[in-house]
Formats: sequence, C-alpha cells, structure tokens
Amino acid sequence: MQQALAAVQSEMGRTYPGVIGGERFTLTDTFASRNPARPGEVLAHFPNATVAHTDRAIEAAAAAFATWQHTPAQERSRYLLKAAADMRRRRFEFNATMVLEAGKSWWEAEIDTAEAIDFMEYYARQILRLADSSHMLTAYPPEQLQLQYIPLGVGAIIPPWNFPNAILAGMTAAAIVAGNTVVLKPAEQTPLIGWKVAELFWNAGLPDGVLNFLTHADGAVVGGRMVEHPQTRFIAFTGSQAVGVKIYETAARVQPGQKWLKRAILEMGGKNAVIVDETADLDAAAEGIVAGAFGFQGQKCSAGSRAILVDAIYDAVAQRVVAGAQQLSLGPTDTSADISLGPVIDQEAYERIRSYIDLGAREGTLLTGGQVIESNDNGYFIPPTVFGDIAADARLAQEEIFGPVLALIRAKDFDDALRIANNTAYGLTGAVFSSRRERLEQARREFHVGNLYLNRKCTGALVNVHPFGGFNMSGTDTKAGGPDYLLQFTQGKSVAEKL
Ligand code: NAD
Repeated sequence: MQQALAAVQSEMGRTYPGVIGGERFTLTDTFASRNPARPGEVLAHFPNATVAHTDRAIEAAAAAFATWQHTPAQERSRYLLKAAADMRRRRFEFNATMVLEAGKSWWEAEIDTAEAIDFMEYYARQILRLADSSHMLTAYPPEQLQLQYIPLGVGAIIPPWNFPNAILAGMTAAAIVAGNTVVLKPAEQTPLIGWKVAELFWNAGLPDGVLNFLTHADGAVVGGRMVEHPQTRFIAFTGSQAVGVKIYETAARVQPGQKWLKRAILEMGGKNAVIVDETADLDAAAEGIVAGAFGFQGQKCSAGSRAILVDAIYDAVAQRVVAGAQQLSLGPTDTSADISLGPVIDQEAYERIRSYIDLGAREGTLLTGGQVIESNDNGYFIPPTVFGDIAADARLAQEEIFGPVLALIRAKDFDDALRIANNTAYGLTGAVFSSRRERLEQARREFHVGNLYLNRKCTGALVNVHPFGGFNMSGTDTKAGGPDYLLQFTQGKSVAEKL
C-alpha cells in the first residue's frame, strides 16, 4: 500500500483527457482534483467539457449502440470479468487513489475497491441469467415462445464522489453489460478514480463509443445536458436528494424529437436511525452506532446519523458512544494505515458540516467533538461529533448532514423509538439492537427502510448479500447488487411464433 501511494503521488499533477467515441481530447479549460487532507496538493487536471462535447458524446454512444446492443450477452459479460480481474491485480493502486483523492482510510478504500470488483463480477453473471428468460414462460405447444430482456439505449451515468470506485463501476458495468452505451461523468471531486475505472474497460477492448467519458467542475453543465438530451434513454444517478429530484423533473419533460419516456434510476440520501432498547447488548449497540455514524467520516448514504435510545438505557449508551467516538484517530490518511478518520471531501462540505455543528449546539447538548481542527495544510478535518437530547423533529434529526455528526434522540419506549425512526422523508437504512424476538419481528414489519439490520451496524452492505437501495425520498426503489437490478437497464420483449 505504501508503494502504491508513492506511485500515485509520483504521477500527481498530470492532465487527463475526455473521451468521445474512442477519441481523446484535451482542453485548455481544466479543473483540478485535490487531496482533501492538503487541498494545495493537486492530483490531476481534467477538462471542463462543454454542452457541445456532451452532444457529441451522446451521438457517439447512439452510433455505438447500433452494434453493441446485438453483441451477445456472453461477450459483453467478459469485458466486465476482464475489468474486474485487472482491478483485482491493481487493487492497491485503486485504494491509494481513493486515499489521496477522497480522504478514505486504507480500510474504507479497500472496502470500496472490493465492492467495485464484486459489482462487476456479479452483473457479469446476472446478465447471462437474464438475457434469455424464455425458460420462465409456461410451455404453450402451438407457439414457440421467447422472452428477451433487451437494452434501452444511451444512458447517462452520474455517480457521487463518496464511493468513487464501487458506485461508479457498478452503475457503469450494469448499464454496459445489459447492452446499453453510456456517457460517464464522474463527480467533480473524484475524476481520477473514475478515469482509472473507465480505462480498465477500454483496456479490456470495449468497442469505441460504448463508454464515453466527460468531466466538468460543475456537475450541472455536462450532467444537466446528459439528462436533458432527447437521445438519452435512461439516467443512472447516485447522489443528493436535491440533485436527484431535479434530474427526475428534467427527465420527465419530453424534448422535441424524443421517442421514449426516459427512465430515471435514482439513489439518493438518507437520515438513518439506529434504535436501541433496554434489552439490547449495550456494548455491541454502542460499537454499531459509532461504526455506522463515523465510518468514512459519516459520508455514507447508509450512515446512522440518528441514534434513538429508549429512556432506560439512554445515559449508559450515550456514555459508551462518546467513549467510542473519542477513540477514533483523525488525520491525513495517506500517512498511516492506523488513522481511522480522514478529512471531509471539500471546502463546501466542511462549511456545511460546521454550520450543522453550530446548529447542534442550539438544538441539543454537545457531548464530544465539535471543535475546529487546525491543520498546517488547511485540510478539511472535523472530529467525530455527538449531540445529546436532540428533539425528534429538530433539523439535526431530519436533514442529511453527510459528515461525522451524530444526533442522540431519547425515546419513551420501543414503540416511540420506531415512530421516531420512521418520521423522516427518507427510508434508506436502519438498525435495531434488541434481544426481544417480538420487537425484532415488529421492526421487520414496521421499520420502513430499504435496508434493515438487526443487532448489527447499518452500514457495510455486500453485493448480493444485502441488495442495497432505499424507499421514500432515498430513491426510486431499486436494489443495487441484487438479483433484479439489471432489469432497470433493460426492457422485456415477448416473441411468439405460430408453429
Ligand atoms: P451530488 O448530488 O452533489 O452529486 C452527484 C452527482 O451529480 C455528481 O456527479 C454531480 O456532478 C452530479 N450533478 C450535480 N448537479 C447536477 C445536475 N444539475 N444535473 C446532473 N448531474 C448533476 O451528490 P454527492 O455530494 O456527489 O454525493 C453525496 C450524496 O449522495 C449524499 O446525499 C448521499 O446520501 C448520496 N448517496 C446515495 C447513495 C445511495 O445508494 N442511495 C449512495 C452514495 C451516496
């Protein structure tokens, strides 16, 4: 890992191109990708592509679709298997890039890369099951029947920076293996890791135009045009609720010349809750709360940013959570494997999180963290911060902060805790710690989240172990890494021939 960090650092400051139809282009108008631990350190420069580039990329994707859609599923799947094998071989380089570009700890980077490999391996196999689903039909002797799941067309792939490898690789791989062609626009904070993933596919021999790659410092410029373009058939987006809703609205508007209703696959934010009742193993609960709230600095959509504790054990759990948070080490993760928390992603996130910390001091009691961390390099470091006695309807309990800030909420009893947990606009993940069987059963029935975890932390979903995706304002009810995910990228065609 140390060698990989040195190797990635030795390539710092290079300028990378955009790619349209297999052709690379560079521009004088570029933006920088920076190390959030030392923002003065520029990892790479990427072009600010224009609306005209976006149109050309979509046309290139549409041209490539003419042949790619008829490429056999077996062949398409092999590009994913090759990319996965190459990523496995270059795993430390991918990890090191995320440590430097996103401020991940070594362990969090390893998890991200492992998930990217899992997504590619899994979707490569799923498409074989899906491509010809005729065996699922009832035999009907007068006719010969076929049920095919065929691709949609050109897709806009718009990932976030927080799982810059796994989510980007997963959405791209799913779209391509299903026979679609895409324009991929990585998040502006993490274009370098996006470039490295795209390169794996190109190196695997993917035909020109199947995967086009554009970047811009402002996500709305290229991303907005990708969503709006009449030749775009679907959008795969993971990111904030605000942007997701905007994409949903834009995609719904039929543009002149558009021949279909666009499909929007949207994975958005969460305000996830961990419930602890008076029968729970309190040490395990506190450990789960700390891991769920502060892993990758709380910058996970699945992060448990609310801990709802029943009154009888509130103080005991609060004490353990504060002790656990204080044990986490904070610093530049590129210097040591032992640092558990790195910087938050950028200046904007730093300021937003700090304003929520100011708000928390008014809405509750600061139990630990909160203070400004000075760093010589102006890194965006925020300590794990816990507020006690936050009201269930306070802003700190309702709004996604996306940083290392945890709100403790007091509940009268288990029913009250469940009611509080369900009372947000989101519905992504949730956890319950209890040793009472009937309460775990009640949570299964009543806790309205896409990913429910009982007696364990609410983060860390594994591909095809915990298919992942949320309800309500957390998304469009899809499950990444699950057996039905590829259906989102296809349409069913039923064919009957009279014999
Ligand atoms: P974001 O919404 O700011 O950006 C996401 C992507 O959208 C980026 O690529 C960005 O450039 C692009 N974008 C921005 N404006 C756009 C526009 N007008 N049109 C088209 N594209 C546009 O989100 P982020 O800060 O990158 O990611 C953090 C958010 O992602 C959090 O809310 C988190 O909960 C969510 N998230 C959800 C999941 C999930 O599976 N549900 C997973 C990871 C992250």
